[in-house]
Formats: sequence, C-alpha cells, structure tokens
Amino acid sequence: MEFHVITLFPGMFESPLAAGMVARAIEAGLISVTAHPLRPFGLGSYRQVDDAPYGGGSGMVMRAEPIAAAIDDVMGQHPGLMRILMTPQGEPLDQSIARELARVRPGLLLIAGRYEGIDERIRSIVDREISIGDYVLSGGELPAMVTIEAVARLIPGVLGNPESLTEESFGADTLEYPHYTRPEEFRGMRVPEILLSGDHARIRAWREAQALDRTRQRRPDLLRRGRG
Ligand code: SAM
Repeated sequence: MEFHVITLFPGMFESPLAAGMVARAIEAGLISVTAHPLRPFGLGSYRQVDDAPYGGGSGMVMRAEPIAAAIDDVMGQHPGLMRILMTPQGEPLDQSIARELARVRPGLLLIAGRYEGIDERIRSIVDREISIGDYVLSGGELPAMVTIEAVARLIPGVLGNPESLTEESFGADTLEYPHYTRPEEFRGMRVPEILLSGDHARIRAWREAQALDRTRQRRPDLLRRGRG
C-alpha cells in the first residue's frame, strides 16, 4: 500500500520512518511512504505558499493554488489515491476508520496543513477530512504520521503476530486486558496467580473479564458504541 504526504516539511518524516514497524514494513515492500515537498509549487520567486486572510484576522492562510498543483502532480504520477486533508475539523480517527483506510488501494495521499490552516476551497478537491483528536497542533505532519502508523499496522503481513490485532485495545470494542512479565514480584506487587497457573482456558476467561472491567471503568462509551 502506498502512503503519500504533501508537506512543507518533508524532513520531519525521515526519522519516524526509519525505526520500528513502519521501517520493517517499508523494507519488506509491504508499504511505501513518500513525502512530497510543497515548496516547489509555491508562487513567484519566493515560492510563496501562504497569504493574509480575507476579512482580516491573525496569522496566515495556506493558498489554494500551490496545494492544488501539488495534489494534481502527485495524482498524475499515482492515480487513484484517496485524498485526505488532515484537519482538526475532520472526522476523528479511530480504529474503525483506520481499518477502512487500510483497505484503500493503491493508497492514501495525506495533505498536511500549517499556519492558520488551508484555504477553504481545497476541501472541494479532497475525498475525506481526518482529525487525530480534539486538540490543535501546529501542522499536519504529526497527524499524517499517526494516520500512517495506525493504518500500516493493519495491513496483512505488517505485524509479525496478526492475533495481536484482535486482542489489543479497540479490536473488539474493548480496551485490552493488563499485561505482566518477569519478575513475579515487583515492589511488593505480585503477578496475578492465574497467569502462572498454565490453565489456558481460565487465563482466557480472566483476560476477557479484565478487558470488560477496565473498559467499563475507563471507557464505557466504547461498550455503548459496540452495542449501537
Ligand atoms: N485554525 C485551524 C482551526 O482552528 O481549525 C487550525 C490550524 S492548525 C494550527 C494547522 C494545521 O495543522 C491544520 O491545517 C492541520 O493540517 C494540522 N492539524 C492541527 N491539529 C490537527 C488535528 N487535531 N488533526 C489533524 N490535523 C491537525
């Protein structure tokens, strides 16, 4: 699956792509990630990409023409990508949206904004708008990376153990059960006896009950959503 990003700061993608699961998935040829610099599409000799807002107000707004030209350029070379604008005003990214996006082929074109945001008219030339949460960051690069990571790990073959996808938080409308590893006792706290019992059926039942309990305590909204 292909991931493309249009950004003023392509360098921001270098180190997150060089480590861990994403790096291994790229190495294995399961995904590709390309950061396309917006600056060359800027206007005039200064390659300007922003301008003052009509109607006044603080900050600068990203102009529509450079972004539209960059989108056309990437789409010309890689037809069929789903164009996604990263914006705090978009649909909140969750595991079910990540699952939908993981099925899109050939892949995604993520557009990272900066400044006060992007000229409103760009909304008419994208397919989807996505937010990574109800807070405002200075740019869409981190939101794009979060989206890439959330989606890439759902692509078959990217995770060594695909079972971890069904067991982990949000896999089945619950948070995941608690984990323990060695030592058996840490600062007076013991690993629950049942996990040392070797009785796999009881361990499975205990984990299911734990997952349900902690979802009820911490995120009851997930259980309501699962039923709805
Ligand atoms: N003025 C805009 C508003 O209030 O909706 C916020 C602009 S923000 C400072 C600049 C850019 O960062 C946005 O265009 C978007 O690409 C990105 N961004 C910031 N927070 C985001 C979030 N929670 N999810 C997705 N993108 C975000």
